[in-house]
Amino acid sequence: MAKTIFKRIIDREIPAAIVYEDDEVLAFNDNNPQAPVHVLVIPKKELPSVADAGDDDTLLLGKLLMAVRNIARQQGLENGYRIVINTGPDGGQTVSHLHLHLLGKRPLHWPPG
Ligand code: C5P
Repeated sequence: MAKTIFKRIIDREIPAAIVYEDDEVLAFNDNNPQAPVHVLVIPKKELPSVADAGDDDTLLLGKLLMAVRNIARQQGLENGYRIVINTGPDGGQTVSHLHLHLLGKRPLHWPPG
């Protein structure tokens, strides 16, 4: 199966503005930002979506959320932020590699479209 665009970023085949990395997690600026801060936080493991997560991914999912918390602090989002995980076609997911959107530095509307 062809690599997703995010797997290619993990493998350094295409460039990205990386803001955080550890053994299991990579975070980079979205290339079409929807807010002044728009970071994508992804697992290095090739997990297509939350819907595909297994019980053995419980710790990894927690690490992704804690990475978002740390990046939000690093990015100065003291006034709040939004975490979005688009899942599947109805969820608006366009890249089949799990990713958490971290959006901030502007007031965000609710409900989303
Ligand atoms: O949740 P969804 O799958 O729609 O989000 C994919 C995100 O990946 C989009 O926000 C898009 O701008 C971003 N993207 C990126 N760099 C790429 C391809 C997509 O930041 N090379």
